[in-house]
Amino acid sequence: MLNIKIFGIVQGVGFRPFVKNLADANKIVGNVANRGSYVEIFAQGDDFNLKNFLNALQTKNPPRSAILKVDSNFLPDKTFFDFKIVESVHESGDIFVSPDISICEQCKEELFDKNNRRYLHPFINCTACGPRLTILKNMPYDRERTSMSDFPMCDACKNEYFDKNSRRFDAQPICCNDCGCEVYIIGKNLRGHDAIKFSRKILAQGGIIAIKGIGGFHLACDARNFSAIQRIRTSKIRPNKPFAVMFKDISAIQRECLLSDVEKSFLDSPQKPIVLLNKKIGSIAQNVAPNINKLGVLLPYTPLHLLIFDFPDEIKNFPDALIMTSGNPSGVPISIDDDDAIKNFDFCDAILSHNRRILLRADDSVADFVENRPSMIRRSRGFAPLPIFFASNKKSVLALGGELKNTFCLAKNDLFYASPYIGDCENLQTVEILEKSIDRMKNLLEIQPEVVICDKHPRYHTSELAKTISDALNVPLIKIQHHYAHILSCLAENNHHGEVIGVAFDGTGFGDDKTVWGGEFFICDTKNYERAASIEPFLQAGGDKSAREGWRIALNFINLDIARELSLSDEKNMRGVKFLLEKDINCVVSTSVGRIFDAIAAILGVCKVSTYEGEAAMRLQALAEKSVHKSQISSKFMTTAEIFHEILNRRLNGENICDLARLFHERLAEMAAQMIFGLSERSKIKNVALSGGVFQNSLLTTLLTEKLRQFGLKILLHRLIPCNDGGICLGQAIFAAQT
Ligand code: ZN
Ligand code: ZN
Ligand code: FE
Repeated sequence: MLNIKIFGIVQGVGFRPFVKNLADANKIVGNVANRGSYVEIFAQGDDFNLKNFLNALQTKNPPRSAILKVDSNFLPDKTFFDFKIVESVHESGDIFVSPDISICEQCKEELFDKNNRRYLHPFINCTACGPRLTILKNMPYDRERTSMSDFPMCDACKNEYFDKNSRRFDAQPICCNDCGCEVYIIGKNLRGHDAIKFSRKILAQGGIIAIKGIGGFHLACDARNFSAIQRIRTSKIRPNKPFAVMFKDISAIQRECLLSDVEKSFLDSPQKPIVLLNKKIGSIAQNVAPNINKLGVLLPYTPLHLLIFDFPDEIKNFPDALIMTSGNPSGVPISIDDDDAIKNFDFCDAILSHNRRILLRADDSVADFVENRPSMIRRSRGFAPLPIFFASNKKSVLALGGELKNTFCLAKNDLFYASPYIGDCENLQTVEILEKSIDRMKNLLEIQPEVVICDKHPRYHTSELAKTISDALNVPLIKIQHHYAHILSCLAENNHHGEVIGVAFDGTGFGDDKTVWGGEFFICDTKNYERAASIEPFLQAGGDKSAREGWRIALNFINLDIARELSLSDEKNMRGVKFLLEKDINCVVSTSVGRIFDAIAAILGVCKVSTYEGEAAMRLQALAEKSVHKSQISSKFMTTAEIFHEILNRRLNGENICDLARLFHERLAEMAAQMIFGLSERSKIKNVALSGGVFQNSLLTTLLTEKLRQFGLKILLHRLIPCNDGGICLGQAIFAAQT
C-alpha cells in the first residue's frame, strides 16, 4: 500500500474528488482525506496501476490546484473494498488557503442556459470556481467551516455535492435558485432577479449602485457618465484618484484600450486582477482616470457581475463599461456588511447586497506591466494569502507592515503568507480592522508568532499595535528600517540570499538618523545593511503638507523671484515657506525621491498639490510618455539639485513640458545608474535590487534597468509583491524569521 501526502493548494479546488476518480479509473482501493495542511492518500493496487495512479496525480491535477510537494512511501497492505473520501480530520501543519477564484467557463455557460436549473443564479459555482478565502472560518475547507454553513442544501444540490461524477462533487459553496444565498436591495422589498433588474435600471439611467461582491462592496456607475462619476468623487472625497473600470468583455476593452496578448491572458486569468492598460480615445469619461495615460481595467469575475451586464429584461443598450471602485469612505477599508453599507453609501441610489457573509476582506488586486511582464501594485483578491517560500530559521513571525497601503505577513516553516490589502493605517478604524484581520488569519493558518516585527517609525499606528500584540503574546518585538525592509521584500520574492546593492526610491520612511529617507543606496544582505549612499539631502518645510505640496520642496532649490515667475503658490505662502526653510523652522531633512518628483511636477506646472499619494509622479510619467524626444545622455555625474536646475532652466526657456518630464526621468535613471556602478566597482557586487514606491513608475524602472543591464549587472525587481508599502511586510517578516 502506498501512503501519499500531497502539499500545495489542494483544498477547495476539487482535489479529493479528482483523486477518487483517478483511483477508480486505475482500480485502486483505499481512501483520501484532507489533513488541513495536505491531502493524504492510502492507495492499494497492483504495481502497474499504482505507478499510473501516482503519475497521474502529479501530472493531471485539477485546474486551480497547485502541487508543491509529494511525499510517498510504502506501508503494509490493509483490507479495503473500494476507494473512499474520508471526512476531514484536522491536523496542523503548513496550510495553503486557496484564494477566491473567478467564475469558470462551464458555470458561465450554465448561468445563461435556460434549461439549466441554475439559470441566472447569481451564486453559481463549482469545484473549480467561486469564493474561498473570503468565506472561510477555519481550515480544513469544508462547508460547515465556511459562511455557507448558514444555508442548508436542497436535495438536488445535495445529490450533486455527493455525486463523484458531478462538477460540484464536494464543492463547498454550492447552492441554487431553490436553496442558499440570495441578493436583495437594502430597504426595498426587492429580492433575487427583481433586485438585479432594479439595479440594472438605475445603472442604465446614470445612477450609482453599491454592489456587494466577493471580498467587499463596490461602487458602480456607467463609466461614460461624467456626472455620475463626479458624484462618486465628491462623496468619497476623491477628486482625482483613478477609478477602475469593469468591462463586459474583452472586445469592449479593446475598443477603449491597447491590449497585448500577455496583458489579455493575465486580465482573463482565474484571479481576474485589475490591469493598467494604455487608454485609447474612446467613450470612457475623462474623469475616470484624469491626467494619466492608463486605465485600470478588469473583467466580471462573479456570476452577479455577469448578470448585471447581461440579463434578459427590457433594458436595451446597457453600458458595457462600469466604474467598479472599492466601496469605502476615504482612507477606511472596504465595507463588507449591510450596516456598514447603509452608513457609508447614503449617496448611492440603491444598495444591492446579499446574505452570504464575507469573513475576510479582499480588495481587487492591481497589476501594471513592466517589460511585458505583470508587476503587482496591490496584491489582494485571487493572490493573497498564497505563501512565498524563503529559507530562514523557520521561526513563526508576525510582521505588521507599514502605515499606508498596509498589509501584514504571517510566517511559519519558511512560508510567508502576505495578507490581503488592508488600507491606510493613519486611520484608527483601519487599525481596528487590521487587528481583527490578523486574528482571523492567525487562526486560519494556525500560526502562533514567536516574534513580532514592525517599522522603526515611532508614530506609526502599526508600531503601536505591534507593541500591544507582542506584549500580549509575551514575545520579542523587533523594529526594522523602512527602506531596508523594502529591499528585503524584493530579495524574498526573488529568493535571493546573497549580497546586493539595494536601491530604495520611495516617498517617506523613518531613517536611522531620524531624518526622512527615501533615496537610499544600501549594500546589504538579508541580515545586515549599510547605507552606502543616498541622494543629496534637502529640507521639507511644513510637516505633513510638504508630502503633498511639491512647490514647498521646489523652494529649496530656487529663490522667490523664480517661484513668483512660475506662480508656485500665493505670495504669502511662498514667503512663509521660504522663511521656514532659511531659518530651519518646522523643517525635516529628507532624501525622498518621491518629493523630488513632486518638486519637478510643481515647477513644470503639472501638479502643485497632490490629492492622492503619488499623483504628481504619475502625472509626470504620463507626460513623459507623450514625449517623442529621447534626450541626450549627460556625460558628467549630476546630483538631484543639478538635475532640478537643468529642468528649471529649460522650463524657463520655454521648452516643451512633456520633453522635460521625459528628461527628468532619464536624468534620474542616469544618476542612479552611476551611483550603482560606483558601488558595484567598490564592492564587487553584481546584483542590484530595486524597491520602494517610486519604482511603481514603469518608465523610470525600464530606463534604469536598461542602463544596468548594459553594464552587466543582474537586476532583481518586484513582480509578485508590490514595490510600494503594500510589500514591506514580507521584507520585515524574512528579517524576523532569521533571528
Ligand atoms: Zn465553475
Ligand atoms: Zn439547491
Ligand atoms: Fe515605503
